[in-house]
Amino acid sequence: MFTLTQIYLRKLESLKTRGARTPPALSSCRDSRGAGRCHLSKIGTGRRPPPARVRVAVRLRPFLDETAGTSEPSCVRAIDSCSLEVANWRNYQETLKYQFDAFYGERSSQQDIYAGSVQPILRHLLEGQNASVLAYGPTGAGKTHTMLGSPEQPGVIPRALMDLLQLTREEGAEGRPWALSVTMSYLEIYQEKVLDLLDPASGDLVIREDCRGNILIPGLTQKPITSFTDFERHFLPASGNRTVGATRLNQRSSRSHAVLLVKVDQRERLAPFRQREGKLYLIDLAGSEDNRRTGNRGLRLKESGAINASLFVLGKVVDALNQGLPRVPYRDSKLTRLLQDSLGGSAHSILIANIAPERRFYLDTVSALNFAARSKEVVNRPFTNESLQLHVLPPVKLSQKELLGPSEAKRARGSEEEETGSPKPAAAPVPASQRFSPLQKLSNMDPAMLERLLSLDRMLGSQGSQGTPLLNTPKRERMVLLKTVEEKDLEIERLKMKQKELEAKVLAQEAAEEEAKENAVSLLRPLPCHTVTVAKPLKKAVVMPLQLIQEQASSPHAEIHILKKKGRKRKLKSLDASEPEEKPQDCWELEISPELLAQGRQKILDLLNEGSARDLRSLQRIGQKKAQLIVGWRQLHGPFGQVEDLERVEGISAKQMESFLKANILGLAAGQRSGSS
Ligand code: ADP
Ligand code: MG
Repeated sequence: MFTLTQIYLRKLESLKTRGARTPPALSSCRDSRGAGRCHLSKIGTGRRPPPARVRVAVRLRPFLDETAGTSEPSCVRAIDSCSLEVANWRNYQETLKYQFDAFYGERSSQQDIYAGSVQPILRHLLEGQNASVLAYGPTGAGKTHTMLGSPEQPGVIPRALMDLLQLTREEGAEGRPWALSVTMSYLEIYQEKVLDLLDPASGDLVIREDCRGNILIPGLTQKPITSFTDFERHFLPASGNRTVGATRLNQRSSRSHAVLLVKVDQRERLAPFRQREGKLYLIDLAGSEDNRRTGNRGLRLKESGAINASLFVLGKVVDALNQGLPRVPYRDSKLTRLLQDSLGGSAHSILIANIAPERRFYLDTVSALNFAARSKEVVNRPFTNESLQLHVLPPVKLSQKELLGPSEAKRARGSEEEETGSPKPAAAPVPASQRFSPLQKLSNMDPAMLERLLSLDRMLGSQGSQGTPLLNTPKRERMVLLKTVEEKDLEIERLKMKQKELEAKVLAQEAAEEEAKENAVSLLRPLPCHTVTVAKPLKKAVVMPLQLIQEQASSPHAEIHILKKKGRKRKLKSLDASEPEEKPQDCWELEISPELLAQGRQKILDLLNEGSARDLRSLQRIGQKKAQLIVGWRQLHGPFGQVEDLERVEGISAKQMESFLKANILGLAAGQRSGSS
């Protein structure tokens, strides 16, 4: 079959030489100057794109056995070029009538279908919009014939490719405002696996959606094609990949969905250097027959299950779109996920429902017609995929990676990285607009990732950050930049931790101060500059200049105590002449006359020897327990000889005794003084 494909060419060429060189439907998309052929989409101007209903055509194939038609009447009868009727099997007196955008009877040619239903939507590709053609129907009804055809009767695929390539050659010629390029990918969905027919070793591929809602298959091979021969060179062996399966698996080709994806990429040659991408899906769906009637078993049943599942979901998607349901179950099957931007999405779509005239197809025919009738209610909103070129590239030169399949590209990547790793001496200064990362061309980047990088780049720009573009920089610079960002993030984290620690410290300090304030009654405690910790005796404190202190000390009527400013870290004499203390800060220090101290000590001693437990509790630092211990000690050992004997009481340490003295002596001394005055 494939050796005969040159016949396609000759046949198509002859078809073309008979008619206009460029089909009228296609030429209508150009204006007289050749410029302004592409209109900005409504989405580009901020308005909602106009709706475009899914077009539905029905094609009835002739009886396969010439003699069958004479003995068996057709189940389907044409009414006009858009309508048909089918006998109602419940009541043979009645017929079921259907109306579509076009009905092609058994005598219709491949050219009729192509020119009538497919060619008109191709022009949208050159407007940067998407288009799709789906062949639907039961196995044997003529889907592959319609899409692929035969060398004698080429179908939609070769015709569309021929026209598209010719059109892009004309439109992208030197001197035209846009440079155009075409790439093709070819895949099949078999048992819910997406298989790259141009690189069969690549395995199941994933389907993704970019931020604009475009469906992508990362890793799918894209081959650039500039002529029909190019197309054949890739398409025919790829179809062979299916054919090998078909021989082995028996009709595998009719049990998988075959998807040919043709992308038309346009780049404006002059400012503002827009770029557009239009995608054309040409899909030969698997048979829609009801497998309950085919008696499939084993693998065939499993296949049927998968086929039916995806076609069943396709039906659900169509119903959800028709009913305007909030959730359309695109993700429930690979097929519908792939068709997401073709059904109820951004594409100009045409569904060709293929039906057969034989009675044995009757039920499948009715079900295919019902599905087609539901599909024509679906409304798409095609828009132009247009963006500004990030870099002004030499017109549409594809990278080595694009020229290779993904696995070849993977192999090549290693050496590419090595190359980029070693800095080459720059022969001439490279213009800023051409400073690409040699590793990651933006055109090769996942659009969602690109979009995120761009917004980050814009954000940096809006913050006045200069010279830090994340894009359009060589790989090394970009890596350095990303590393710096990472380090800054870590630094911020570290600072945040530190701040938390400090806050905790401050809180703890405040709590401690609060506690200290409550307990602060010590007379000898150096008084902070701004606070007076002992309220009662300090009421009469007199702050005096230093020279007066000497006179005061020698005077027989000296004040009980004075406050005088002490220098930093001055050593103080403790009340009982114990070890001097180290005082860390400037402070006011209390100085008390020795007689008063002696009186205070005596009063404490009296209390220790005569006071009841209750009396003792009136002293500072003496609680119930200590008071009882003191009374108990007194009963055992007799009276205290001096206040320091307190240390001998079990449970009272020397330190506690000292702090007890400090806490009480001034209060008692003051009481003595006020009592005597
Ligand atoms: P499907 O892909 O739907 O299973 P095919 O395209 O393989 O069906 O068609 C089944 C058979 O019918 C093929 O032999 C094909 O050549 C033939 N056929 C289908 N449609 C037509 C048509 N319009 N005119 C002539 N033969 C047709
Ligand atoms: Mg087929």
